[in-house]
Amino acid sequence: MMRVLLGVLLLSGLAACQRAPEVHQHAFFAFGTLVELSVADVDPQRAAEAAEAVEQVFQEYHRLWHAWHPGPLADLNRALAAGQGAYPDPSIHLLLELAAPLAERSGYRFDPAIGGLVRLWGFHADTPPQGPPPDAEALRAWRAARPSLADLYWDEGQVFSRNPALQLDFGAFAKGHALDQAIARLRALGIDHAIVNAGGDLRAIGRRPDRPWRIGIRHPRAPGVLASLQLEDNESLFTSGDYERYFEYGGERYHHILDPASGAPARGTTSVTVLHSDATTVDAAATALFVAGPEHWQEVARAMGLRHVLLIDAAGVAHLSPAMAGRIRFETDPPPPVRLGEPLP
Ligand code: ADP
Ligand code: MG
Repeated sequence: MMRVLLGVLLLSGLAACQRAPEVHQHAFFAFGTLVELSVADVDPQRAAEAAEAVEQVFQEYHRLWHAWHPGPLADLNRALAAGQGAYPDPSIHLLLELAAPLAERSGYRFDPAIGGLVRLWGFHADTPPQGPPPDAEALRAWRAARPSLADLYWDEGQVFSRNPALQLDFGAFAKGHALDQAIARLRALGIDHAIVNAGGDLRAIGRRPDRPWRIGIRHPRAPGVLASLQLEDNESLFTSGDYERYFEYGGERYHHILDPASGAPARGTTSVTVLHSDATTVDAAATALFVAGPEHWQEVARAMGLRHVLLIDAAGVAHLSPAMAGRIRFETDPPPPVRLGEPLP
């Protein structure tokens, strides 16, 4: 908890030191992280309504989407594992519809059907696992079954799986979707200027009265901020890193972003930051590009329609798309070595 709080405080430091009185702040815990709402250009009454609405979205979705606690997603997983069809909860139905094209375009590097693998590694638990890594035989069996979202099919409103090893886990993009829902709720309340920041992953609309929203990107290996940028109207920025949930065992770091092809934590990347309009897409994309790594991130970014990407590789090199290079400012001295990618259309 201390580590999470510290990271969030550091991230919000940039914004905090220039906070103007007309920006209303509200913070609460959800999805295991601190969620901070900032609303500008409204009276205190409207700001309080906004806070309540956003908090409600997060609590509701946390309950619905948790793969391992009792609830609609756990029920659905049980039915699919038993080879039965099920009518999913409408919010889960929507998530499945959103996930299908994102998973396909990512080449199934982002694949919410790998819940069984997440569970084998122990990253489903509320507290991070201590190791050891899973038994080699269990991993081999999972790889042989290789469930993927493409194994799902629909028949008269019911969803079925061709693969009994398929288990849904929306951890890689549920937070993004909750942020999109939160922003939709704010807009419905007539709010045009706000930012919802869930532990450094955020979506913004409008601007502060005095200037655009400004945010920091956390350094994957040092306390503090690696880079900063100003957000334009309606932009989301997400970072996936190997430092968020991991254990060390036998001198190796095992983190929570798994490569469905190998069945193990993805190698070669320490963090990926993606900037795009909606938060559902950037959350899925940050996970997919992390798995793609320094060799393949550009082809996956192109396939997913992204223009703004920053990938820090295991050697500390910053791989940047040209559009992202034009937006961020490195805050470290010296800045990291940069490798500029090809322009993304
Ligand atoms: P965070 O939410 O911590 O920033 P991510 O968005 O990258 O991290 O999501 C990681 C979570 O998603 C894991 O805890 C696990 O539940 C799930 N997951 C891990 N690897 C994948 C993957 N390749 N595709 C889809 N989901 C994944
Ligand atoms: Mg993600």
